[in-house]
Amino acid sequence: MKYVDEFRDSRAGRKLVAEIREAAPHRPLTLMEVCGTHTMAIARFGIRPLLPPSIRLISGPGCPVCVTPLKFMDTAVALSRQGLTLAVFGDMMRVPGSASSLEREAASGADVRVVASTLEALALADRLKPRPVVFLGIGFETTAPTVAASMLEAKRRSLANYTVLCGHKTMPRALAALAAGNPRPDGYLCPGHVSVVIGSGAYEGIVRDFGIGCVIAGFEPLDILQAIRMLVIQFKSGAPAVENPYSRAVTAGGNGRAREVMETVFEPCDSDWRGLGRIQGSGLSIRPEFADFDAAVRFPVSVATASDPPGCRCGEVLTGAVRPAECGLFGTACAPDHPVGACMVSSEGTCAAAYRYGTD
Ligand code: SF4
Repeated sequence: MKYVDEFRDSRAGRKLVAEIREAAPHRPLTLMEVCGTHTMAIARFGIRPLLPPSIRLISGPGCPVCVTPLKFMDTAVALSRQGLTLAVFGDMMRVPGSASSLEREAASGADVRVVASTLEALALADRLKPRPVVFLGIGFETTAPTVAASMLEAKRRSLANYTVLCGHKTMPRALAALAAGNPRPDGYLCPGHVSVVIGSGAYEGIVRDFGIGCVIAGFEPLDILQAIRMLVIQFKSGAPAVENPYSRAVTAGGNGRAREVMETVFEPCDSDWRGLGRIQGSGLSIRPEFADFDAAVRFPVSVATASDPPGCRCGEVLTGAVRPAECGLFGTACAPDHPVGACMVSSEGTCAAAYRYGTD
């Protein structure tokens, strides 16, 4: 508790807010957070209204479920209809595909099980063997190492019925794609969890190639305010840089062992992001040496490319182009108990955060 209090001290928070206001430029400054946990924390702790009007805090593509394209969900639905057992994280159940969701398929008799970890998915495969179990691997550098480790373990134990449908993505290329766009953010609040694995050094290219400051933030209110303050000062002084005030968790080099495991099993590939389209080299695919554990190889299905439901603006929400309330479906046709888009489903989604905390 003492640890949490240290990063929620109201007097220190007021001081940081005053410093941000003092340093705020006259021209509008747009800062983007690219981590779903930051999105939730910013809404939960009411950080947006504390900032001066010239500072606009927007959410980027940091929610793993939200950036997963419809085609991945349609593929998962198709696999569930083939009589395979699917092991999924809870958030994935209600993400709408183009015509169905895993929740609906489960209600119609498909075998879709919610697991809390890849260890649980492996245990499920062990219990059900030889029945095929497909784990849905999504997320960034935070989850990819654990999924890779589960495949190494399956190989070691000759657990031939365990496979992964791989939808993993990596963050730096997506940040570069947004930085190359127009409009682009003036600074990035970089993701704490991802940075633990990739290290602060991974953002040097964003600063060098695009002149956009990158500050790595933790998840407590003082962490976030401190990172915003640093970005504002960088902007004002015209000296974008990589700064790492979250050094209690993130190092310059990151977690080399986690990356090694990831690189053993996965290789870079082009990847489709909801809202951003295809980004070169921004995804991970399973190396041919692990094809026996690759659901896409073992159980190939063909699904058509689909677009977001009519009226859903998830794609624009994920690039910070619009706020959730600017979507005509927000809070009416689309709400957490009847979501239309992925951004309302996930516990890390921007629309879910705005709906839950009424902060939009
Ligand atoms: S409110 Fe719903 S439909 Fe609109 S962008 Fe958000 S998730 Fe998509």
